[in-house]
Amino acid sequence: MKFKRPRGTNDLFGDRMSIWQQAESELTGLIRNYGYSEIRTPIFEMTDLFVRAVGEGSDIVTKEMYTFEDKKGRSLTLRPENTAPVMRAFLENSLHRTGGIKRFYYLGPMFRYDRPQAGRYRQFHQIGVEAIGSEDPSIDAEIIDVSLSMYKLFRYPRLDVRLNSVGCPKCLPSFKEVLKGELEGLKEELCGNCQDRAMINPLRIFDCKSCDDVKHKLPVITDHLCGECRDHFGKLQEILDGMKIDYSLDPLLVRGLDYYTKTAFEILHPELGAQNALCGGGRYDGLADDCGGGFVPAIGFSAGMERLIETLPEEYMSNLAAAAKVAYFAILDDSMIAEIMLIAREMRLEGVSAVIDLSGRNIKKQMRAASDGSFKYAVIVGPEEIGRQEATVKDLQSGEQESISLDKLQSYLVEGAKE
Ligand code: AMP
Repeated sequence: MKFKRPRGTNDLFGDRMSIWQQAESELTGLIRNYGYSEIRTPIFEMTDLFVRAVGEGSDIVTKEMYTFEDKKGRSLTLRPENTAPVMRAFLENSLHRTGGIKRFYYLGPMFRYDRPQAGRYRQFHQIGVEAIGSEDPSIDAEIIDVSLSMYKLFRYPRLDVRLNSVGCPKCLPSFKEVLKGELEGLKEELCGNCQDRAMINPLRIFDCKSCDDVKHKLPVITDHLCGECRDHFGKLQEILDGMKIDYSLDPLLVRGLDYYTKTAFEILHPELGAQNALCGGGRYDGLADDCGGGFVPAIGFSAGMERLIETLPEEYMSNLAAAAKVAYFAILDDSMIAEIMLIAREMRLEGVSAVIDLSGRNIKKQMRAASDGSFKYAVIVGPEEIGRQEATVKDLQSGEQESISLDKLQSYLVEGAKE
């Protein structure tokens, strides 16, 4: 074979694909129950959108973007995240004019040129939720609740929810100065990377896995919040406590994207190792203004689909296996193939799955395909059956067989699917 898939990407098919589809459909159903509707934006955007929104000095912008020029020399970038595109779409389509809170969710591939490893890919998928138009901490609580419900849906054991406030343009700049002052004295202890970036954006130190020792010697943002941020953070915690949501305060939690203000949170999986974040999010009240759209407060989160699929609890996976497909037609005489195809089509239109084995292989192989595919019934159509205008329907779980006339076959199988 001459070609391989690009490093850090995956091919999805077969059982794994079915698990993805089922998980996606359950997740989006749940999110819609909260009143969020889907938004689809382009896979690529003008590069400047991400540079402005995610931040010039961020790892994503400096190292990880797939950026290219189109034929007219415009700089475009495959989206590394989807909050900035959603905000761009919100502003461009003047959705702020109607007022109120706009609730959106999205699902799709993101692209980051990162070092691939377990749980980290160059093309990965995120499901994300954004609530745009309110500063109130109650919507922060709703967003955190949506994110946790996603994992409750799949019966995850207790997860580690980390919560912090990263301040706002009123308190963050002075905190950064305090940090810079402290870092002067600790420069020798920083990794090479952080020595360079400490003076540009000292918050990045908190994101660096190599500088753990230094982090604990630094002042924390929550001791330097302005009154407004402190009130907001306090109110959010009150609501979360009232909702019986368990979380721990993590003053070292900052997120790798520059647009966050006030609330920041992450959900960690204790068994995931280095890439243990299932989901992360926060408030981004300054993003709309950075995009030239004025003040539009908003909050959201994004969850990695690969990490969710890779950690789905056993219990959920075994329920999935039980969701059997319905009819597998084993064809040993194709003289009535058109009639069989018609019956199968009508079944599918009634919402029942039916697959016809058109390979011409022997009965043994066709029956094996029926049971390997976890179908409920094998429908055998051989010369004898055709002579009698019948099919033999075998219940693959009980092993029982019945002859059913062709004109009753469709209703027999559709009824059987409901049992
Ligand atoms: P972020 O957009 O960086 O806040 O990431 C949100 C979530 O997306 C993370 O918690 C991960 O679950 C997932 N994620 C981020 N980057 C990757 C990646 N390179 N590969 C797989 N999943 C990722």
